[in-house]
Formats: sequence, structure tokens, C-alpha cells
Amino acid sequence: MDTYLDNYDDPHNRQFLNTLRDGIVIVDSKNIIKFANISALNLLGYSEDKLLDKSFENIVQLQSKGKNLEGDESPIKKARVKKGIFTSSSESGLELTMARGDRSMLPVTLTVIPDRHEKDQSCMIVFHDSSSDEKVDRAKSEFIALVSHQLRTPINIISWYVEKLINERHGNLNASQKDYLNEVEKSNHRVTELVQAIVNVSRTDLNRLKHKHEKVVLDELIIRLSNDTRSLAIEKNITLDFHIHKKNLILSDSDQELIFVSLKNIILNSLRYTQSGGHVVFSTQEVKKKQLLHGYSVQTDGYVATVEDNGIGIPDEEKQYIFTKLFRASNVQALDVTGVGLGLYIAQNFIQELGGHIWFDSELRNGSTFYIFIPRE
Ligand code: ADP
Repeated sequence: MDTYLDNYDDPHNRQFLNTLRDGIVIVDSKNIIKFANISALNLLGYSEDKLLDKSFENIVQLQSKGKNLEGDESPIKKARVKKGIFTSSSESGLELTMARGDRSMLPVTLTVIPDRHEKDQSCMIVFHDSSSDEKVDRAKSEFIALVSHQLRTPINIISWYVEKLINERHGNLNASQKDYLNEVEKSNHRVTELVQAIVNVSRTDLNRLKHKHEKVVLDELIIRLSNDTRSLAIEKNITLDFHIHKKNLILSDSDQELIFVSLKNIILNSLRYTQSGGHVVFSTQEVKKKQLLHGYSVQTDGYVATVEDNGIGIPDEEKQYIFTKLFRASNVQALDVTGVGLGLYIAQNFIQELGGHIWFDSELRNGSTFYIFIPRE
């Protein structure tokens, strides 16, 4: 079997690799650069003789948020340890830059593909200039933020007039008229939720989340959550219980709305992904710094809210994706057509903004438990 090191010398392969717009570098087991395609030379600003047979790490510094990625943090090392592909775009929050020949830093998305032949240990490093991607992404997010804000006013006006009609303040309605208006109200409510979710996503994507640093009384917020989720539980015939371990749970430097939206998304998911007759239990507990809780070591004193259901669960091979924007697991699509795959993305970002953490356990067909850690201060 041919390895990368056997292959890059073949003129046909070289020609092919040189047509690609992404930078491609092949390193041997000691991270010595054996090949760099034309795009790699252009992106990095080096001539071939300055790169070949030099140590990748000595020449091309990789950084994330100003910190050099060396030793165990090096993407090449990570790919070798994992014996599989490392890609920076799947590590949330990992923004990489590469040092160019003139010492300027190039924002990149980077993939490291170790050779399948373990003995060889060479790696192919593929990188893409992400500076223009970021500009395009930002322009799209700005557009979406603007449109969703503009949609709020007409939606509120529709709600207002429909409510007036349903309350029969301007004359009585017959049964069919009432049914139709109830349908309009339901759909409008759905649109309101969707627009709100889009607003929340664009706040996250444009780094416009404002952490209010306010005092939050957790038990009051839980009463609001219970009021807002109970109707779906009744509609689906699911037992929904809220256990508060003690009264007056205070978060001194937090944000009521960010916690509320996150917890509500998670409770609604449990209700939506649990069959009729099932149960969903919400509970809270106090946790101390360094306490290990279901596989997570808590960083500071705070509270953990737990949302447990006995619903459909999450398939093992899809667990890694569920916090990704727009992802929906294969087993939910037939059960619930209303979801769009934004709820957990929003919840994770909001809770991280507060210095907290979300994680979960789930067993297919047996249920899921989501844990939400929120620091006390
Ligand atoms: P959606 O709008 O699809 O619910 P989310 O981002 O809230 O989007 O959730 C992403 C996916 O995670 C869901 O589509 C579902 O596949 C899975 N998921 C989330 N919560 C649960 C749960 N309690 N039980 C089973 N699957 C869940």
C-alpha cells in the first residue's frame, strides 16, 4: 500500500495537489515538511526551499487566541493520538491562526489527516484561509438579525388583533370562526418562537450577547418555567414535575433571561421527545467547586439543574453533534416536525456566556438527562 510519503513524489499527484485552492502540507513522522502545494506556499508566503525539509512546528506556528498550540495541544499530535482526522471546524470556539513568512497571522480552518499506515505516521495538513469566510458569515448574520427584528412588529400586531377577535370584544363568533382563529393564533405563536430563536442565534453569532450581571432568584424563575411548559405536558399527557431542593436559591451575578431561555429549551425538548404517558422531572442541587458530577468536574460553587425524561433518547453515533446549529438526530424527525435544531445551540452558548456548562447522558429508547451547571457568582 502506498503512503503519503510514497505518493507526493508522483508527478500526477503533485500536479493534482497543485490545482487545489486549499494549502496542503505533508509532514513525516518527525513533522519534517516533505511537500507543500502551491496554495500552501502562497498562503504562507514562503518559497519551496524555505519550507522543505524543515520542521513544521519551527516554521509554521499555529495559534489559538494568541496561544501557541504545542505539545499535546498541537493539532498534528491530536490527530496522531486519535488515529483519525482532526478538524478545527468541529472544535467549537477553536479559532486558529498560522504564522506567515512575514510574521503576520493568517486565520485558517485546518484539518490534519494522519496516514492510514500506522508505521508511517506521516500526516497531511490541509488549511483554508478563513478570513473571507468570516466576513461573509458576519454579513449573513447581520442580514438575518435585521430581518428577524423587522418581523417582530407585524407578528405582534397579528397576535394583538387575533386576541381581540377571539375574546369576542367586537361581536360574537360562530364555532368555525373560533376554530379558525385558534389555528391562526397557534401558527402565529410558532412563528414568534421561531423568530425569537433566530434572534437568539444571531445575537450569539454576532457576539452580541449581553450578560446583564444581575441577581437571579432561581426558584422564581422555575415557577415561570413551570407555567410556560405545563400546557405542552398536558397536551402530550406527560407527567412534568419540578423539584426545588430548597427555597431562595440566589445567583448573585447572572442573567435571568439567558438562564430562562436555556432551561426552557431543554425542558421543551424533553417534552417533545418523550411519548405520551412518559415523565419529565426537573430538579436542582447545590454543587461545590471541584465536585465531580456525572462525569463533569464543576469549576466553581453553583447550582446544577437536571432535566430527566424517559423519552426516545439519542443514538450514540449522533451524540457528538446535538449542540451543533441545525442538527436534528435521525430518530426525532418522524416524531416531531416542529423542531429546527437551534434550541441546544442557543442553550449551550447562553450558559457558556454565564460561565456554566451543559452536558447529558442518554440511552436510545430509554431516555435522556441534561445537566446544566450555573455558577453562583
Ligand atoms: P430541535 O429543534 O430539533 O429540538 P435542539 O437543538 O433543541 O433542536 O436539539 C437538537 C437535537 O438533539 C434534537 O433534534 C434531538 O435529536 C436531540 N435532543 C435534544 N434533546 C433531546 C431529548 N430530551 N431526547 C431526545 N433527543 C433530544
